[in-house]
Amino acid sequence: MLPKNETNSGFICAHCGEKVSPAVVTARNHCPHCLWSLHVDENIPGDRAATCGGVMEPAAIFQKHGEWVVIHRCLECGKEQPNRCAEDDNFETLIDLTQNSDG
Ligand SMILES: [Zn+2]
Ligand SMILES: [Zn+2]
Repeated sequence: MLPKNETNSGFICAHCGEKVSPAVVTARNHCPHCLWSLHVDENIPGDRAATCGGVMEPAAIFQKHGEWVVIHRCLECGKEQPNRCAEDDNFETLIDLTQNSDG
């Protein structure tokens, strides 16, 4: 379990193994290199209330009010959660997802 007050800490990506530094603006909740996440938030991004801890794949991506939003789907429990992309997310990975998402 992560301490509840550590909403913006760095971590090692469970998917690609890259060392991820804390975000500058918002709480970092996914890897900027591969966009995978971990199921640690339950209701609000950053609440760290989930006990699942499964890896979450970037299942879909769309633009909302000019910002990219990625839908993360937990491979353990199937929960889906939208998350805003960070400014330094890998844009090529992001575009790949838009191309995959529609079949
Ligand atoms: Zn990664
Ligand atoms: Zn889960």
